[in-house]
Amino acid sequence: MALKPCRECKKEVATDATTCPHCGCKSPVANVEVILKGVGVLVVLAVFAYVWITN
Ligand SMILES: [Zn+2]
Repeated sequence: MALKPCRECKKEVATDATTCPHCGCKSPVANVEVILKGVGVLVVLAVFAYVWITN
């Protein structure tokens, strides 16, 4: 379990914490890579849906 600074209060929070134990903000150490992967999957799905619909 790693510790990273909270995006709100900058205190150390476990990377798997859903809320900051210090300030209570949600996803205090939200991983940018995970978000980017999610967006990438959505874009690929949208392209497939577009090709499927237009054919
Ligand atoms: Zn915090």
